[in-house]
Amino acid sequence: SEVATMMDVPVTKVISACMSLGMMVTMNQRLDAETLTIVAEEFGYDVEFVTADLEETVEEVEENPDDLEERAPIVTVMGHVDHGKTSLLDHIRQENVIAGESGGITQHIGAYAVKLKNGQKISFLDTPGHEAFTAMRARGAQVTDIAIIVIAADDDVMPQTKEAISHAQAAGVPIVFAINKSDLPTANPEKIKEKLAAMNLLVEDWGGKVQSHDISAKTGAGVDELLEKVLLESEILELKANPDKLASGTIVEAYLDKGRGYVATILVQAGTLKVGDYVLAGRHSGKIKAMHDERGQEIKEAGPSTPVSILGLDGAPQAGDKFKVMTDEREAKEIAAKRTQLQREQTVRTQRHITLDEIGRRIALGDFKELNIILKGDVDGSVEALTDSFLKLSTEEIQVNIIHKGVGAITESDVLLASASDAVIIGFNVRPAGNARQLADKEEIDIRTYSIIYDAINDLKDAMEGMLSPEL
Ligand code: GDP
Repeated sequence: SEVATMMDVPVTKVISACMSLGMMVTMNQRLDAETLTIVAEEFGYDVEFVTADLEETVEEVEENPDDLEERAPIVTVMGHVDHGKTSLLDHIRQENVIAGESGGITQHIGAYAVKLKNGQKISFLDTPGHEAFTAMRARGAQVTDIAIIVIAADDDVMPQTKEAISHAQAAGVPIVFAINKSDLPTANPEKIKEKLAAMNLLVEDWGGKVQSHDISAKTGAGVDELLEKVLLESEILELKANPDKLASGTIVEAYLDKGRGYVATILVQAGTLKVGDYVLAGRHSGKIKAMHDERGQEIKEAGPSTPVSILGLDGAPQAGDKFKVMTDEREAKEIAAKRTQLQREQTVRTQRHITLDEIGRRIALGDFKELNIILKGDVDGSVEALTDSFLKLSTEEIQVNIIHKGVGAITESDVLLASASDAVIIGFNVRPAGNARQLADKEEIDIRTYSIIYDAINDLKDAMEGMLSPEL
């Protein structure tokens, strides 16, 4: 009804336009962005979304290069379970106390900053693992600058190591490998490097470009050198931010504390956050009453790449929500309220993920250049065979990328990666495990499973030619 009024056509016509698209709708129903576009086109209108994407309402202004200053890198530690992620984070946390400051890091606030002996700083996200990393990314937040991927030298490049690598690569985040547990007599770092080389990741000692260092998270051997390499990588990235403006950044975690109210750990990514600032964060807002660092010390302001825990929000935003300091308190509250409303009307989707059925149409529209695929199979042989065949389907108009492949069931982590990278998931003789199917439905991720290689290739080929008959 709303859209009919805007276009000045009878609502019945809009309803029948929807019906011709196979959608039975009522007058009060909200249409998703895509349907709206198609329906409006029928009546000769172009749709421009302004309020639906509320990020737009807090738009970024172009930065003057003179205002930019160097900032510390933000690092996430990933890797296979038990390879030593937590041990490494703990070691770094304990060893790198800023000189002259009392005590080590006592609070777990989800992120911490350390100052190395040479005075340089690094900020770590304290929730190890690629799931947390990609969950944030699926929410549109790219916080990590560099990924440390920990591999135990007495073990192997494991499935989750491969996942971590794919997740970092899909995000375009450079990797520094920490070959861990080198104190163990059974450690064989060269074997790990060889395995990495076989995956096209040639580390420096092997003449490649990928940084890696042998460490022991237990004894601390090599950790300083590892961090040096992180800083080298960071120099190449030329990480910069303008500290002299209203702060913006990302929520790392948030919870309700019985005594203090809502506590949120945030990572300032640009500008400087000050006590007293009015903050809009996801669907919540509030005036900052107090800020603390990871040592539990009260601080008055926090610049770029600094993690801080803040008090004063009127609710707990989700990890990955962006925050922004607003000058107009009323406007901040309005946007927060609007977001809450949109959240309730879950039918409103501004961005849907790609499905095989849609590919042909999207290619025809000319706005689709790369098809991202996550491929899971029961055995290595079929995964490799399918990879080769899929890659060969690339045409001049559209490039096929396998952003992650592996042996095993389709997991929630695969679905998150698909959501963050707008990919379709193809399973060969494997099915979604655990809650992966549920999550895929929620995130609207297309999962296709096959048991005949030929069918999988043909479906993809047909999809790319816009000829795929809808899945029944
Ligand atoms: P995570 O699952 O990746 O976080 O791994 P943890 O940090 O929990 O480590 C798993 C196990 O490996 C623990 O028992 C650690 O004590 C042990 N560990 C971690 N790093 C090292 C290391 O450098 N040397 C040795 N010998 N053991 C380690």
